Amino acid sequence: MNEHDELQILCRFRSFLGIDRYRKFIFRLANDRKEKPAFVYWQRKAWGEFVERQPSFSQVPLTDPFLFLRCDVDGFALRRLDLVLSDFEFRNIREIRTIRDERIPFANSYRQCAACFIKWRDWLIENRAFTSIWRRKITLDDYFERFSELIQAGDKFGEQIIKHKNDIAARLQESDEIWEFDTGLEALSGCGGIGVFRNGELVEKIEMVKA
Ligand SMILES: [Zn+2]
Repeated sequence: MNEHDELQILCRFRSFLGIDRYRKFIFRLANDRKEKPAFVYWQRKAWGEFVERQPSFSQVPLTDPFLFLRCDVDGFALRRLDLVLSDFEFRNIREIRTIRDERIPFANSYRQCAACFIKWRDWLIENRAFTSIWRRKITLDDYFERFSELIQAGDKFGEQIIKHKNDIAARLQESDEIWEFDTGLEALSGCGGIGVFRNGELVEKIEMVKA
């Protein structure tokens, strides 16, 4: 089969399944960590339904997973590239995931699309006010204001919070900046807190709240 035929099959298969099911089909293979990804039952079933309605492709057996490992946005083959964002932490929130999944779907899969990854990285950085876990510059007093009820309750937990705040304050230097972070508190693994930046470098990250 030449490349033109391959693309034609993928294109027809995509229209047949609809974008959501098609992406699910490709993701399944793109995230299969075996050297040769395997088709699972529902994928074989979907392919069977497709060739039944497209007799011209009925001679194409479902044996080659690599045929499907292609980004449907950019056309690049999906391969193991191990591209990761090492210097930018972004929030794990639904709005960001939705944009990624719709426009740049293969930025983070096990087998990645290089074009998706670059677009993803650039988009995150261009929109850092929205995407970065670092939300705003804040003072220690303003940050701890949210715990005022707990502190006023005067129990042991309140005392611990005050001690924690005083310990942080004792470590601060005059030019330090404090920024509030939020990794996406809607996610189960999300957390929030503050970071201390000295001459533009993060020197301490203090987790205060968990999702
Ligand atoms: Zn892509």
